[in-house]
Amino acid sequence: MGAHVAGGSAIRGSRVGAGPMGESERGESAPRVRVGFWCANGHDTRIVFAHDVEVPETWDCPRCGLPAGQDQQNPPPPPRTEPYKTHLAYVRERRSDEDGAALLEEALQRLRARRGA
Ligand SMILES: [Zn+2]
Repeated sequence: MGAHVAGGSAIRGSRVGAGPMGESERGESAPRVRVGFWCANGHDTRIVFAHDVEVPETWDCPRCGLPAGQDQQNPPPPPRTEPYKTHLAYVRERRSDEDGAALLEEALQRLRARRGA
């Protein structure tokens, strides 16, 4: 036992991925996810992630630099480049772990208070 070793051909021949339809493997030995991102300018970007990687919610569009989201119908709005700080920008900066819904609620309450009573 051990004197006879059959080279590596057995391992080579039984490679997974070569489909019955002559589809040779496209380097996809590991599972991947292909995710589409759309920016506000309508560019679509396909990014392939390894399956164990956390897919980000947004991706910077490589063509125009705008943030692109996974929802084609509802891409993230382009960031404003206004000379002064908007209230929204202020809120964004302030946001850390705070829930967006809570912020919205807060804003609504402030609105009501200003309008109200
Ligand atoms: Zn774009």
